[in-house]
Amino acid sequence: MDKTIEEKYIKAGEIAKKAKDLAKKELKSGISVLEFVEKIESFIKKEAGLAFPVNISINDFSAHCTPDINDTAIFKEGDLVKVDLGVQVDGYIADTAFSIKLGEKNNVLIKAAEDALKEFIDNISPGKTIEEMSKLVEQVVASYGVKTVKNLAGHSLQQYVQHGGLSIPNTYVKNKYQFKEGDVIAMEIFTTNGEGFVVESSPTNIYMFLKQGALRLDESKKILNRIMQEYKTLPFAKRWLKDLATPVKLNMALKEMVERGVLRDYPPLRERSKGLVAQVEETIIIKDKPIITTI
Ligand code: MN
Ligand code: MN
Repeated sequence: MDKTIEEKYIKAGEIAKKAKDLAKKELKSGISVLEFVEKIESFIKKEAGLAFPVNISINDFSAHCTPDINDTAIFKEGDLVKVDLGVQVDGYIADTAFSIKLGEKNNVLIKAAEDALKEFIDNISPGKTIEEMSKLVEQVVASYGVKTVKNLAGHSLQQYVQHGGLSIPNTYVKNKYQFKEGDVIAMEIFTTNGEGFVVESSPTNIYMFLKQGALRLDESKKILNRIMQEYKTLPFAKRWLKDLATPVKLNMALKEMVERGVLRDYPPLRERSKGLVAQVEETIIIKDKPIITTI
């Protein structure tokens, strides 16, 4: 990998680490989820770019949750909170997540996920296959008597692309792809005491640009301008657009843009049997001695 690109990945990771520390310090029951998220996002924006909205997914909600405009949710004692945050430097991304069960120290789902990710990191190197690494993750998680989520996965990263071509499931998969020097991956592990499948839920608050297309509404055109200038091909939150139009008009514009294939939406993902879900994630540059940018 080009040295200047590697440095950008490392810088994004350094800022992500600080943002994680801030999040761990600030997260407590009784506070507003929206205020918490805005605090973390403004910290990241002072240092670099946001790679995607800070995701706060609670209990059986597993991923793709971020507060709506004027969201009134608060963190509650006992909540299993997943904080997933992303930093980008010229489009080179650090993607990292941690979980906390508010008011509880030793949660088995979190421990299983953390241990599996540690094993993954200790064993990853050029030449290892997705098959053997997915098997390893599944085995470690199973040793705790809990399950992985079958339809969620780690992924590769590319410049301004959060989900690159590679998918690294948490469950054994027949895939002989061999990791190679210079691959950058965000390895994320999801554990659950439920069935181990997530399904789409609502309301959607995260979107991403897909392709240009004809748009009728003025608000849609304004949103497209904002995307071209700032978010590019990275995910963004509906609340980031609140200066452009009223919530009602934003909803109409986003609906038009999704229907016309200009945007894709990211509905919240929820465990099908309402099981609790924990998540951990780190970004890794694959080498003989891998660089974990977010630790
Ligand atoms: Mn993530
Ligand atoms: Mn990720």
